[in-house]
Amino acid sequence: MFRRLMTLEEAEGIIIKNLKVAPLGIEEVDILEACGRVLAVDVVSGIDVPPFNRSTVDGYAVRSEDTFGADENNPIRLRVCGAVSVGEVPKISIGRGEAVEIMTGAPIPDGADAVVMSEHAERMDNEVYIYRAVTKYANIMKAGSDIKRGETVLTEGMVLGAREIGALAAIGLSKVKVYKVPRVAVLSTGAEVTEPGKPLESGKIYDINAYSLSVAVKECGGNPIYLGVFPDDALTIEKALKKALSDADVVITSGGVSVGPKDLIPRVLNTLGDPGVVVCGVAIKPGKPTTVAIIGDKPVFALPGHPASALLVFYLLVRPIIMGLAGRKPKEETIKAIASTRMFSDKGRKTFVMVNVKKDERGRLLADPVSTGLSGAITTLLKADGFIEIPENQQFIDVGEEVVVHLFREL
Ligand code: AMP
Ligand code: MG
Repeated sequence: MFRRLMTLEEAEGIIIKNLKVAPLGIEEVDILEACGRVLAVDVVSGIDVPPFNRSTVDGYAVRSEDTFGADENNPIRLRVCGAVSVGEVPKISIGRGEAVEIMTGAPIPDGADAVVMSEHAERMDNEVYIYRAVTKYANIMKAGSDIKRGETVLTEGMVLGAREIGALAAIGLSKVKVYKVPRVAVLSTGAEVTEPGKPLESGKIYDINAYSLSVAVKECGGNPIYLGVFPDDALTIEKALKKALSDADVVITSGGVSVGPKDLIPRVLNTLGDPGVVVCGVAIKPGKPTTVAIIGDKPVFALPGHPASALLVFYLLVRPIIMGLAGRKPKEETIKAIASTRMFSDKGRKTFVMVNVKKDERGRLLADPVSTGLSGAITTLLKADGFIEIPENQQFIDVGEEVVVHLFREL
């Protein structure tokens, strides 16, 4: 079969052209279930937080002007006319020369405009000696000073975590509208591929891809559905793909896309529906046999079997699609570094070199290729901090050249 290799950009373009990459719908979930979900709407507060002026300390609510001039040697004496505790509405208001005992978190009584901390006051029966002057609003958190009623607290597209969910609770919401999570079927192919946990017969290897890809799916906001390992048999694979397409929004396979006699995924994919296979080989290294089909409105990414290739292609082509369907904004972490050595490209293919980033003795960041630069090795990715690209028309990157490193993890 003749394969015209598309460039990576052509492949990205044709996928986007054939696929609507937008959130799959909205659902409402309990805020405790919302961790890692993507907010589908702007959230506007219906209340002030705090809802009332409240004391931030234990002490005495006062009129600040009554305390002016007070210090360690010249305390000012005020009459204590009551107490206010947390959770109650103050029934008292204070006038000139008066104070109200108050707890942290209790509402400020009318007439008071500041709170003197207990540490700066001394109680004597119905009176209190104030040893330090306070300014207006001292030790008071004003109503709405945290969040104002009508204020937009969180915006659409935010990924919810502890702080965001705390803010939802602060404004009294127990449920939140989030985007539906894309379901992503993951399946492996090959008679040699064995599920971890089972004994390994001779000639066989453990399935890496189903696991690395499933977790990669989770990391970009999808819900992986592991369907298992399938032998290289057209009928079996056809059945598996049909089930995957009916159960999931996106399908990812690995293996069976090279040009060997057992590599039948592209052929099967072309029988499943229109528009069918849209990408059949990409001019990249690693990842050349990558195949992509669109069946109706669902993409099938048939990734190479080599674990490092599969995961790299996931990162390049699949991740942006899953993030888009999940409502996440794809963001890429890159840093600039200096090539530690000369790195060669594969002629005519955009070449990805896995690198470590380290500092040299002068404090400059160096991009250093990881030693086993083989696409078959999972450790290639394990050891890498990220990768650099050498364009298809460039023979090499020279030692000392500045390069952009796309990071897998934060440094
Ligand atoms: P294939 O494209 O099916 O010929 O696979 C290419 C190479 O990747 C072969 O050495 C396979 O054994 C290996 N391989 C395929 N699938 C997996 C997998 N799920 N986990 C680990 N290695 C795999
Ligand atoms: Mg295979």
